[in-house]
Amino acid sequence: MEQQQPHFLLVTYPSHGHINPALQFANRLIHLGGGGRRVHVTFAITISAHRRMIKSPPPDGLSFATFSDGYDDGFKLEDKMQEYLDQLKRNGTKALTELIVSNANQGRPFTCLVYTLLIPWAAEVARELHLPSTLFWIQPAMVLDIYYYYYNGFADVIGNCNNDPSHSIQLPGLPLLNSRELPSFMLASNTYDYLLPIFQADLEALEKLSKPRVLVNTFDALEIEALKAIEKLNLVAVGPLIPSAYLDERDPSNGSKDYMEWLNSKPESSVIYVSFGSISVLMEQQMEQIARGLLDCGRPFLWVIRAKENGEEEKLSCRKELEEKGMIVPWCSQVYVLSHPSVGCFVTHCGWNSTLEALFSGVPMVAFPQWSDQGTNAKLIEDVLKTGVKVTANNDGIVVGDEIKRCLELVVGDEEREKEIRRNAMKWKELSREAVNQGGSSYSNLKAFVDECCG
Ligand code: UDP
Repeated sequence: MEQQQPHFLLVTYPSHGHINPALQFANRLIHLGGGGRRVHVTFAITISAHRRMIKSPPPDGLSFATFSDGYDDGFKLEDKMQEYLDQLKRNGTKALTELIVSNANQGRPFTCLVYTLLIPWAAEVARELHLPSTLFWIQPAMVLDIYYYYYNGFADVIGNCNNDPSHSIQLPGLPLLNSRELPSFMLASNTYDYLLPIFQADLEALEKLSKPRVLVNTFDALEIEALKAIEKLNLVAVGPLIPSAYLDERDPSNGSKDYMEWLNSKPESSVIYVSFGSISVLMEQQMEQIARGLLDCGRPFLWVIRAKENGEEEKLSCRKELEEKGMIVPWCSQVYVLSHPSVGCFVTHCGWNSTLEALFSGVPMVAFPQWSDQGTNAKLIEDVLKTGVKVTANNDGIVVGDEIKRCLELVVGDEEREKEIRRNAMKWKELSREAVNQGGSSYSNLKAFVDECCG
């Protein structure tokens, strides 16, 4: 009897932070074929997210199956998030069900469903149709551990920490954490009530599996303790999954590469790269303070300021001066920028992809977390990996220009501590590359996963 070719179904929440690592994950799965085994990946994706990517045909072994989430022109700020999530669930459940059934009927059944967080309904569909499923966790293992503890006996301990920011908590296997270092959705200040229950549903979906294995976008050397902290979960590190050149070409906002030429004109390690990812929107007052800090620091900078949804550009009182001293772009190919030799520091919101991309390129960071897992990621950057420093906000929650300048100088300066930060950045660059190279820990873990799925 002819052996079935492995066929993975991949589905993600439709934002950059989920799609980027998932595409790279798909790429790796395809390349792990061999020995007569051709792995195929079908990536189920919303129409609006697919529109943002398409430019060239996907590589052999990858195909896309699009479905409408009812927001084909993209999610707008005025749209209600809860309504969006409900509709994504309804439409996604229907689309995935049809896809799984039709592929089975056509003799191309799926071997396994892999899904990212915020879409626990995907695991439900797989369960109903008796298809094995695996969660691909795109945040650090430490964050998954904290959510797990929150829902398994530590809600009160975490809640107490919440009420008193000076109080720290010790969760088993994790470093001491204060409230700013916990995922923001657990804090009393959280205004996104609908998100915590989705994380809970993600964890409940795992409980329904006999031996829950979670693939995590991290690597053993980076989080060895956090990966082992929860006995009931088998956390398997398969990262860092960094967007490749192929993915980058598919980025529509990648038309102009003027900033690469601009970077070429700057001395080695001189440029400060500033980006707050694909979602965070900063208050005008905060933007002004960042501008002040950058100008006062006196180094060239490349600052990504995404256009507002109405197409207007961000108003900044010193825009002219900023454009003389640095460069402002609405988007860039971040992995290219971070790997450019002129870039010496990354002011980042600490999205996990951005953090891993900086580690992979050996770029030290000024950690400027906003929400979700970013406070925990900033803790990792500053205290655990020691590849950067974290900004401190004032009593009004604003990080003032002087503080930004202070942190920048701590990262780019020439004192011993600053050199140490840069030495650590180089160390993590080597270790992260080692992990994904053939024979490395993440390479072997992913290969073992594919081998097991393919029986
Ligand atoms: N990104 C990019 N260009 C930009 C800003 C962001 O290519 O100008 C990419 C970045 O490389 C990363 C993703 O968008 O892969 C952002 O993910 P992250 O987890 O860092 O943050 P999020 O956008 O989810 O908050």
